[in-house]
Amino acid sequence: MPGKLPRQASLSCSGSSPDQRIKLLVEYGSLVEVDKALAIKLYLRSGREMLRMANMYCDDGHFESAFILYSKFITLFVEKLRQHPDYKLAPQTDLADLKRKVKKVFPIAEAIKLKLKARYTEEERLYIEEQQHLAELRAAEEEKRQAALEQQQKEDEELAKRLQEEEEAGVRTEQDRKYLLLREKEEERLQEEEQRKKNQGFASSQVPANAADGHINNGVNASTVAGAATLGGVAGAAVASLPEPAAAIGADRLHLISPPSSAVSGSALPPPPSYSQYLNDIAQDRPQVPDRSLKKNLMTQDTGAASQPVPSIDRSKKPSIDHHMSLGQFGGHVDGRLRKVTVPASLMTQFLLAAESNTRRESETMGILCGKMCQGCFNITTLFIPKQKGGHDSCDMENEEELIFFQDEHNLITLGWIHTHPTQTAFLSSVDLHSHFPWQKMMPEAIAIVCSPKFQETGIFKLTDHGLDVIGACREKGFHPHNKNPPLFEDCSHVEVCETGGVIVEDRRH
Ligand SMILES: [Zn+2]
Ligand SMILES: [Zn+2]
Repeated sequence: MPGKLPRQASLSCSGSSPDQRIKLLVEYGSLVEVDKALAIKLYLRSGREMLRMANMYCDDGHFESAFILYSKFITLFVEKLRQHPDYKLAPQTDLADLKRKVKKVFPIAEAIKLKLKARYTEEERLYIEEQQHLAELRAAEEEKRQAALEQQQKEDEELAKRLQEEEEAGVRTEQDRKYLLLREKEEERLQEEEQRKKNQGFASSQVPANAADGHINNGVNASTVAGAATLGGVAGAAVASLPEPAAAIGADRLHLISPPSSAVSGSALPPPPSYSQYLNDIAQDRPQVPDRSLKKNLMTQDTGAASQPVPSIDRSKKPSIDHHMSLGQFGGHVDGRLRKVTVPASLMTQFLLAAESNTRRESETMGILCGKMCQGCFNITTLFIPKQKGGHDSCDMENEEELIFFQDEHNLITLGWIHTHPTQTAFLSSVDLHSHFPWQKMMPEAIAIVCSPKFQETGIFKLTDHGLDVIGACREKGFHPHNKNPPLFEDCSHVEVCETGGVIVEDRRH
């Protein structure tokens, strides 16, 4: 089996230059190994098949696959096939023919390489352009986002400032109200103080003159006791027990709003507090306005602009590559998937009709399935029934040259084979497995159709990966047992049977 290139090697232009991509194609083209157990005849036949296949890739527009296959052809016939033990025994005419073909293939491969390089260069240019465009889009998006963020920050700051002002104004209004109340009380107190002083002054100057009037019952009471006693002892005693009135009352009332120290002397009363002093005094109790930056943070977290994600960029829109990349010995997909093979349902009917006389004699019949590539699929278009020698459990092709000439003439590739089991069910015998191996080895999509008229069943099979390993390593001939677990063959999932269409039958038996 050919070696595998690391999967990370990229044929797309996203990370590789045109030269790197060409280099990778050349590397794929050198992945040819010669299995010394396979007859050299098979390689000579395969060489022609490879060229037909490469031509078909060209016609279908798969230039990368065509380049790889032409390169494999060159690698095989210039370099690798010489390692085969039977190389010197191979017919010289065949080798000479292949050498002539190699000379023709060189310039074709070179022309395709130049064509691909031009395409890769153009793809690279488009890719760079697209990347620049995406970068510009991202930058514009970022700028827009930044502007929205700044706008939001500005709005947040304004809002925080307004809130603080409102809060401070609220505090001031409350302070104003308290101040006015205090001021009012203080003025009231001062008025009373004033009044008290007046009263005191009036009393001290008027007592001697008014004592006889008895209006003022002060310290002078004693001098009037005798006179008062005439009014009755009880009344005189009651008047004498009256407390010191005005000054005491005034002092008490002052005490309510003045500090005790200043209340000691009426003349040392403090002035009403100034407004600024008042504000300073209560500054410590002022309610705190929430931190602006915190507010700002809280708000910006909720803004649509800040949380809006940068639009994601569709990275799948890279320039496309040719998906029909040959990786197998002579075909196959770069990702290991098989391409679809379409089989017209009438193929089986036509084949059974051609095999009828053999089937009656319980003798097997075989045919070769030939076809073309169209839009990345393989269509079976032709049934080639070669000269053959059939038994009741096997069938061998004779004169293989006829098939090769026919395929060259009609530009057809081999997509598998078909045979009957006149007496048995539809399955692949050990001989069938070995017969199918080179077809599938050459073309991973190659199929084996088995028709069982007796049991009215048809199987469309291929070897499993395990089957390819086991049969590739098996040197037994004729019918022989294989370990069937895990299975060596399976039903094909890459085949589509079409109800419409038919095939050309090329019967060379007569
Ligand atoms: Zn069979
Ligand atoms: Zn075997």
